[in-house]
Amino acid sequence: MVEEKTPGVPYDAEHRRSLGGSEATALGVDVGGTKILVGAVTKAGEVVEARRYRMDRSTQELTLSSIRTAVEGFMGAWADTAPLALGLGVVGQTKPAAGLWVQAMNLPIHSPVPLGRLMRKQTGLPCVLDNDVHAATLAELRWGIGKEYKDFIYLNIGTGLAAGLVSNGQLVRGAANYAGELGHMLVDPGGSLCPCGQRGCLEPICSGDGILAQVREGLIDYPDSILCEPLRDETLTASQVFQAAEAGDPLAMRITSKVVQALSTALTNLVNLLNPAVIVYGGGVLKDNRPVGTSGLMEKVSGLVSANALVAARRAFIGIWPSHLDPDRAGLLGAACLAWDYLEKRGR
Ligand SMILES: [Zn+2]
Repeated sequence: MVEEKTPGVPYDAEHRRSLGGSEATALGVDVGGTKILVGAVTKAGEVVEARRYRMDRSTQELTLSSIRTAVEGFMGAWADTAPLALGLGVVGQTKPAAGLWVQAMNLPIHSPVPLGRLMRKQTGLPCVLDNDVHAATLAELRWGIGKEYKDFIYLNIGTGLAAGLVSNGQLVRGAANYAGELGHMLVDPGGSLCPCGQRGCLEPICSGDGILAQVREGLIDYPDSILCEPLRDETLTASQVFQAAEAGDPLAMRITSKVVQALSTALTNLVNLLNPAVIVYGGGVLKDNRPVGTSGLMEKVSGLVSANALVAARRAFIGIWPSHLDPDRAGLLGAACLAWDYLEKRGR
């Protein structure tokens, strides 16, 4: 019934069998703009089982109903062990202590939702929530780069763009738990209009959606670009744009150069401001870019940041690396990490 409406897509059956399915787990719910990923994760950060569910973002009510249905579907289909708690990572602003989802830009959350309380009522489990990038940064602290470094930045470039800032082993949250909105750093005054209402933000230049929009606009000046056909067929990805730049396509080169320039400007400012040891990145756009190799986009950005940051900040800065955590599961691990952090505080 529920499964028929939004059938989950299991992709971890083999791995789950190899683990034996007996270890204690917490559930993570990664609420994205187009899909919901629900999974069971051990205290060591092993994903025992994960399923994808459809997100209907037509209205606030349907968005919430999609989350409820996904969790219900997962808990109905997966019953090896009773999970200990549930963590939710959501886009936008949250008040974790109150379990409140305050608002979101990429999903229609217009009035605050007591999502923690609603999910606790539905599942009977302790439920905690936070912003999805904050959650992924906490996963980096627990299971990733945080094991080696206490001062780092986690950069997530996908549909949108955000950063998790970690200083002296602590996530920087800000006065309204809204620190890290790197995508709205002004890097091009008077530039393209951003969904936030400002002009010149980083996000319309560097995000996946933003790159495709620049191709659409640029084809007026470059009608012979090799990007024309995949754009028309709706198969074009940001990584193809970067690869076309490597192959010498003038439009792709123009866009890629703008991405490198804008991203390195923003990150140089961040390095001067926060003095991190390292920046790690994840997210769809950059993951796609990995096969480009040593001449890839992030290597160029890393080189510019290292060259342009202040001398003392530059000396302490090791570079920009891909995260060791699976980029497809950074959000899920983050959400589950919220639950494990909660359990740990209570001595579990
Ligand atoms: Zn903006």
